[in-house]
Amino acid sequence: TKGSVYILDNKWESVLKEMQNLVTAVSYDLYIETLEPIRQQDGVLVLLASTANNKRQLLKLHKEKLLSVVKSVYDNVEDIVVLEPDEKEDYLEQNEQKEVVETVATSEPANSNLNTKYTFDNFVIGKSNQFCYAASRAVAENPGLKYNPLFIHGGSGLGKTHLLYAIGNYIQKNFPEKKVLYCTSEKFTTDYVDSLRADKKENANKIFRGKYRNVDVLMIDDIQFMAAKMSTQEEFFYTFNDLHQSNKQIIITSDKHPRNLESFEERLRSRFTGGLIQDMQKPDFETRLAILKKKVEVEDDHVMPEVLPMIAEKIDTNIRELEGMLNKTVSLASLIGKRYATVEEAEEALKDIEDNNKEQITIDKIIETICGYYNVKKSDLIGKKRNKEIVDPRQICVYIITELLDVPLESIGKALGGRDHTTIIHARDKVATNIKTNKGLKTTVSDIIAMIKKDN
Ligand code: ADP
Ligand code: MG
Repeated sequence: TKGSVYILDNKWESVLKEMQNLVTAVSYDLYIETLEPIRQQDGVLVLLASTANNKRQLLKLHKEKLLSVVKSVYDNVEDIVVLEPDEKEDYLEQNEQKEVVETVATSEPANSNLNTKYTFDNFVIGKSNQFCYAASRAVAENPGLKYNPLFIHGGSGLGKTHLLYAIGNYIQKNFPEKKVLYCTSEKFTTDYVDSLRADKKENANKIFRGKYRNVDVLMIDDIQFMAAKMSTQEEFFYTFNDLHQSNKQIIITSDKHPRNLESFEERLRSRFTGGLIQDMQKPDFETRLAILKKKVEVEDDHVMPEVLPMIAEKIDTNIRELEGMLNKTVSLASLIGKRYATVEEAEEALKDIEDNNKEQITIDKIIETICGYYNVKKSDLIGKKRNKEIVDPRQICVYIITELLDVPLESIGKALGGRDHTTIIHARDKVATNIKTNKGLKTTVSDIIAMIKKDN
C-alpha cells in the first residue's frame, strides 16, 4: 500500500454542508440529513432514504442539486441511486460488491479517496494563518523531522482541516513511498471501540493497531472530541508514543490549546505540547476577500466584482460561512437564470444573517424566556419577593445571563430591579455550584438556554 492516503470519512459531511446552503432548512432536515450513504460502487453513490415518501420528495425536489454536489465532492462518482428502506436488501443482493474495507486496504482506490480539493496552492495566506501555514509547509516538506507533533488549534471554519489535507496531498505527491493516514478523532474512537467488541474476531484489535501505527504520517482532526473518552485516550497515548519514537509525523488539530483540553489526561496534554503549537486566528478583511476571490477563480463562479467585498464585510469570523454565503449567492443567481450573481442576490443571501443579528440575545430576552418557562410575572422576577418559586428562577436567570452574555455585573443587577453586584455574584455562583451535582437543574438550564437560542 505504497503512498496511499486514507480519508476515512468527511466526504458525506461535506455534501451535507453544501446542501445546507442550497435547500431550505425544512427540506434539509427532512430529505437530506436523513439520508445515509451506504455504498460507493462503480461510480455510483448509493443512498438510503428514511422513508419511501422522503425518497420521492427528494428525487422530485433536489435530485439535480444533490447530484451536482456529490459529483463535486466525490472525485469518482458520476451518479447517485436513492433507495427506500424496502428496496435496500434487493438492491444490495443484486449488486454484490467486495467489502468496503477492501477498497481502503488496497492502494489505488484509497489514493482517489483523498480530497485533492484542498491543497497549499489554494490556501490563501494572510496575517491570521501565516504561521500555521508555514509550520504545515515545513512539516509537509520534512515529515517526521521538523515539528513533532504539530498541534494546530483555532475556532471552527478557519482552515485547520484544509491544512491537514494540504499536508497529506503534498506528502503523497512528493514522498510517494510514505503512508499517510488522516482521520477525525471520532473515527479513531469508533474504530477503537469497535475493535474491542466481543463479537469481533480476536485479531480485530491487532488490525486496529496495524492500521494506526503502520503509517508515516498520522493526522488526527478535532482531537477535542476525544475528551472524556479515557480508554480511547489511553490507546491514542500508546499510538502516539509508538509513532513518535520512530520519528513518524503526527499532526493534531483542536478547537483549543492543549492546556484547555480539560478532560484529557495530563500525560497526553504534555505530549501535545512537545512539538510545535500554533494557533489559527480569525481572518482580517483582506484575507477574507482574497479567499473569496480564490474560490471564485477555482470554481469558475460568475459574480460581479462588487459582490465579494460585500460578503467579506458581513461574514467576519468563519471561512466556511463565508464560502457558504458565496455559494448561496451564486445559486440564487442561477436559479433565476442570471449569468452573473449581482448585489441583489448577495443581499438576498445575506438577509438571513441580518435577520439573525437583529434578534440578538439580550438580557430582556432572557428574562422573558425565564418568566415564560416558570410562568412567573416579570415584575415578580425582578421584584422583591423572596419565596422559593421566585428566587430560584431569579438566580437561574442571573446564571444564564452570565453564561450567554458578556455584560458587566452592574448591568445585570440593574436589569433585575436594581440589585447590587454582590447579590448577582452570589446568585451566579450558587447556581454554578448546584449545577455540578444536580442533574435536573443542569437539564433545566440547558433547556432554557436552548429555548433562548432557538427563538433567535
Ligand atoms: P476548520 O477545519 O478549521 O473548521 P476548514 O479547514 O474546514 O476549517 O475550512 C473551512 C472552509 O474554509 C474550507 O472550505 C476551506 O477550504 C476554507 N478555507 C479556510 N481557510 C482558507 C484559506 N486560508 N484559503 C482558502 N480557503 C480556506
Ligand atoms: Mg475541521
